[in-house]
Order: sequence, then structure tokens, then C-alpha cells
Amino acid sequence: MVVRLGGYARISLDKDGEELGVERQRRDYRQVAGVRPGWEVARDYVDNDVSAFKRNVIRPQFEALLTDLESGVIDGVIAYDVDRLARQPRDLERLLDVFEARPNLVFCTVTNDLDLSTSDGRTMARVMVAFANKASADTGRRVARKHKELADAGKNGGGFPPFGWKDDRLTVDPAQAALITKAHDDLLAGTRMSTIVREWQAKDVQTSRNTGKPITRVAVRSILSNPRLAGFRAVKGEIHIGPGGKPVMGVWEPICTPERLEAVTVVLDGVRSQHRDNGQKGTNAYKYLLSGILRCAQCGARLAPNLRSSWTEGSNGSRFAYRCPPSTDNGCGKVSRAGEPIDSHILSLIHDAEARLKAPKSEAAEWSGAARLAEVEQELAELITAKREKKISAASWIAVVEPLEAERDELRHDRARHAVAAAQAADTLNLAEDFERLPIERQRAVILKHIKTVIVHPAGRGARKFNPDLLEVVWTAQAVF
Ligand SMILES: [Zn+2]
Repeated sequence: MVVRLGGYARISLDKDGEELGVERQRRDYRQVAGVRPGWEVARDYVDNDVSAFKRNVIRPQFEALLTDLESGVIDGVIAYDVDRLARQPRDLERLLDVFEARPNLVFCTVTNDLDLSTSDGRTMARVMVAFANKASADTGRRVARKHKELADAGKNGGGFPPFGWKDDRLTVDPAQAALITKAHDDLLAGTRMSTIVREWQAKDVQTSRNTGKPITRVAVRSILSNPRLAGFRAVKGEIHIGPGGKPVMGVWEPICTPERLEAVTVVLDGVRSQHRDNGQKGTNAYKYLLSGILRCAQCGARLAPNLRSSWTEGSNGSRFAYRCPPSTDNGCGKVSRAGEPIDSHILSLIHDAEARLKAPKSEAAEWSGAARLAEVEQELAELITAKREKKISAASWIAVVEPLEAERDELRHDRARHAVAAAQAADTLNLAEDFERLPIERQRAVILKHIKTVIVHPAGRGARKFNPDLLEVVWTAQAVF
């Protein structure tokens, strides 16, 4: 009588040196089957490149083997060893259920004599799988430890090559780096993220995953704020702090300085709070040059742009008005002024201000907090080391570390603000030629460089002529006179 066996072979990804190629497993179990009278391997079930230890991995051929055993298509299983067949105890239990239900089934491995039709044999199999399972968990821990060692040494981890570098993850990719640098320049000068995302999409920029789909805002944001750009080794997007309590620097070529990365991060974080502060939502909020910048002289509310439809009084042919919102929106509703004359008047003021900026000016002052920041960072690094070496109690550690961290964060923030201000001061432009071509948020950024707010006084009933004296300009501290 012929016993038709299902041969099972599996190759897993863990490279722990004990790897057995599928071919070798198959040759070995066929040899064993060949010396038993009547045995034949009717079908090979091969799962390739999957680890039975990873819980969420489904092994299609293992599933097929179970089904064929249950339905009687095969009379037994032959494999290299039992943990090749089932590394997870729950996989083994499913197999044992079938053998318990059909005690005539044959079970054979190359490395052991296990009789799964007996209770003792099943117990033995459970023990062997449990040990193999533990070995796999140890491998998992070894891999995690290896990752940490790599991070501590500033070496690259796995995954797709990061945007900005070549496939070796060390050498800068000039084209991608240029995109990043330009986007940083734009962001620091006030261009909005959505503008940059649209630009990248228009250029069909792809990450190394190369999905072929338009790049997303989330992807662009994480590319532009990747700690790696400034040479920091990051783990899960966070700068990795090494055993010395200081950020670990990577072994690759950086694309920007830490200060610049920080300034960009501050700008990116600020995008959300800016929207919140102005109480404006969506992308239409900035369609009008001065929305959020003009305030009502009567009640202090921010004037909102309002398209002219039926309202014609004193319109001077203007298409829109800046209007104090009604009392239901925390305004007084009493001030409303034609939009275009205000826009062009403010623009001429800005034009003059930019021209003054262009006049030779002393070098931008260097940031004054550098020495103190270095001191604070050094102190924090020493404290982290002290805590790791258990030289200081948790309670007193927190008491000294918290104020220091607060000071460090404030200093870093200040440095970033300084960098942003310096970048914008350097970004003077020939207004007449360039201004029109800028996206509206850049135009607004140029305005906000000089002007904090403009207080708008009511024009009075029937006043038709534009009177600039009714606009009270509040200049910024940076404005040059
Ligand atoms: Zn008002």
C-alpha cells in the first residue's frame, strides 16, 4: 500500500547561520522517505522567505498542507524538523488536532523520531516547538539590540533609502538635495507647505518607494524635517540620544545645518498655530492680501474680506471690501472699506520699506545665545549620564533637569526665530518686478516683515474718495526707516 506524504519545506529570513536551503530540506526528507517501503512524497509544500515566528505572517503552503491532511488528500507529513514545520505553538496545535483526529496519519522528520499519534510524541513536539519559539524570540531581541548598536554608532538602519541620498545612504543625491534646499529656502521666506507640495507634484517628485502616485503633503513634510538632513541619527523620526546623553551624529553626508533644520521645524510647527491665531480656516483664508492684517478701529476685530455683490456704497468700483465682522462674529460690523485701494496703498508702503532694506546694512547680528546654549546642553548631557549610571535619584534628577530643558528649548526656539528673521531680512526683492510673481503667502510674509497690523478707521457716511490717513500702520520692530 502506498503512503502518500506531503513534504514540507520552509526557508525563513533570519540569517542566524543555521539556515537550510529549501532544496536541501527537500533532498533530505526525500532520502528518508525513500528508505521506507511504500512511502512516496506526493507533493511538496514550500513556503519561501517567511518566518513562522512572525505572528501575522500567513504561510499559504502550510495552510494548504493542513487542508490536504484533513481531507485525506495526503496520508501524512514529512519535513526536515518539527520547528521547520511549526515554529509557533498555535500552528503546532492545529497540526496536532489533525493527528489526534486521524491517528493513522504518518509523521516523520529527518532529525527526530516523533510519533504524533501518541500523547507522549505530541508532548515532545510541544517542547521542541516551545524551545524553537524561544530561540526565535532571542533572535528578535538580538536584532533589536543590533538596531540600537547601529543607532548608537550613527550607522544607517534598514528600510528604503532616505530622500536626499543615493542608494548607499551615505552620498548626497544632488538633485534631491537641491529640491530640499530650495524648499527650505522657500519655507523660511514664507512660502506655504501646500505651494511646495504642489510644486513637487508638478515635477513628479517620487520617494524611493516610487509608488507612481503624487507625493503627499505628509511625505514632503517628513522629508523636509527629517533629522537626518542635519546629520542626526534618528529612530522613528526622533533624534537618537546616545550613551553620552548627546544626539548621535550619523556617518553620512549632511544636507543642511542643525540650525537650519531647527528653523524649518519651527516654521512647519508654526503653520498650524498661525492658522489658529488668525481664526482662519482652509486655504481660501489667504486669498486676500491683507486679510487678518487689518483691524477695526472701533472694536479691534480683524477685518475680513468680503466679495462685493449687492453692496455698492463707496465702492469706487472695487470688487471686494474689507469688513468688520458682525457682532455674532465678535466684531461691530461698522467698518467696511473698499479692498483694492487699501491693498495698493499698503503695497506702495511696503515697496518703500523694501527699498530702504536694500540700502547697505550692517551684517545680520550673530545670535547671542550660543554660549549659554552649549553650556546648558553640556549640563544636560552630564545629568543624563549621571542618571544612567544611577548616581542621582529620579526625584532630584527631575528637579534639576526640567528647568534646564525648558531653558534649552527656549534658547533653541530663540535661535530658530533668529535664523528665520535673518533669512527673511536677506530676502529683499525688487518689489516692482518680483512681487507679483510671488505666491500670495510670500507676498503676505513680505508685508508682515514690515507691518504688524493696520488699524482701519471708518470713512464716514458717503465718503467716496480713498483717504490714506484713515489707515493707521503699526510697523514691526524690524522695519527700517
Ligand atoms: Zn469693528
